[in-house]
Amino acid sequence: MKLISKLPDVGTTIFTVMSQLATDHQAINLGQGFPDFNPDERLLDLVNQAMREGHNQYPPMAGIPALRQEISSKLESLHGHYYDPETEVTVTAGASEALMASIQAFVHPGDEVIVIEPFYDLYIPAIQLAGGIPVVVSMIAPTLTTPIYQVDWQRVRDAITSKTRMLVINFPHNPTGIRLEQSDLDSLEQIVAATDILVLSDEVYEHLVFDGYEHLSLARNPIIAANAITVFSFGKTYSATGWKIGYCCAPKALMAEIRKVHQFMVFTVTSPMQYAIAHYMKDSKPYLALAGFYQQKRDRLSQGLQKSRFRVLPSQGTFFLLADYSEISDMHEADFARWLTTEHGVGVIPVSAFYRQPDALTSNHNLARFCFAKRDDTLNTAIEKLASV
Ligand code: PMP
Ligand code: GLN
Repeated sequence: MKLISKLPDVGTTIFTVMSQLATDHQAINLGQGFPDFNPDERLLDLVNQAMREGHNQYPPMAGIPALRQEISSKLESLHGHYYDPETEVTVTAGASEALMASIQAFVHPGDEVIVIEPFYDLYIPAIQLAGGIPVVVSMIAPTLTTPIYQVDWQRVRDAITSKTRMLVINFPHNPTGIRLEQSDLDSLEQIVAATDILVLSDEVYEHLVFDGYEHLSLARNPIIAANAITVFSFGKTYSATGWKIGYCCAPKALMAEIRKVHQFMVFTVTSPMQYAIAHYMKDSKPYLALAGFYQQKRDRLSQGLQKSRFRVLPSQGTFFLLADYSEISDMHEADFARWLTTEHGVGVIPVSAFYRQPDALTSNHNLARFCFAKRDDTLNTAIEKLASV
């Protein structure tokens, strides 16, 4: 049989590769983004209780009504936009499934989909599986005087053609840690109003915005929300990335199409977690406290790195920060990340892995991504190791 790959350029994800390398070398893993601590005991008890109460069979395809109701109420109270829980909210197998299902539902062969580089690794293969054409628009890379990535919306506008079906965005942004500002939302509104393209908005780090700023969900803007799919992850919000549970919201007509894909991709998602989360999320304190909790961790790592030869870039959100290592080495990012893991015992992710051509000179800015979703003692040990590099 002659096998023709549908994804000939895809290998194992950088997160898997770097986690394995860290394990093999007993390095501290600040690479792949996941907490090294448990979710709240109360949430664990609620899952246990749901299992004991018999919530172990197929729940409804779109998610249990109680959970969809809570999601709808939460979005309305945070962002002032009402999504009908019956028709406009779907519980998914993590944000990943929501993103994949949305792309499969709307992208036809030959459609162009704009992604902003650097980008999360799932988007391009998902577009390719649908037969779409990824159109990559680069952010403005950080410089010494402006040490932070920026989106140039004019570049996005210039990339739009009559074939553009969708624009994929992600704020707070993995890996750069930038957040959306009101001026960005205004630019997006103009784009949507002028072109009618769909916006797929990956908002998995919605609660991780620091320094007193708020997350600006696309749900806040009625013009954008009419054309947008907003995507969220309980994995990030409740420190349970391995549960693979998230959700997406979209206007009824769009959601009907997403559900057609969802029902044949997974049909529904894990039952006891849905019951437990529906109960747990009635209390807003756990998710409202998250930014403060992670801001302390960001500051711990960032201050720790001041004593090293890494130069920290500002992290406005997510549980990642970028640091420039030019004072240490001029290796390519992938080589540096491997070297740091194997020789200094701290695993990180090369930012170039979030570029279409990771080896290209233009994708390498001497940056490493550090995940600070770790216990303080883990961060302290990593800081000590990094100070000696
Ligand atoms: N989008 C981004 C930007 C992410 O960083 C991640 C995962 N870490 C996901 C989507 C996938 O989220 P989930 O684990 O809920 O599928
Ligand atoms: N999103 C996580 C990160 O950026 C990784 C998730 C995964 O391993 N697929 O580190």
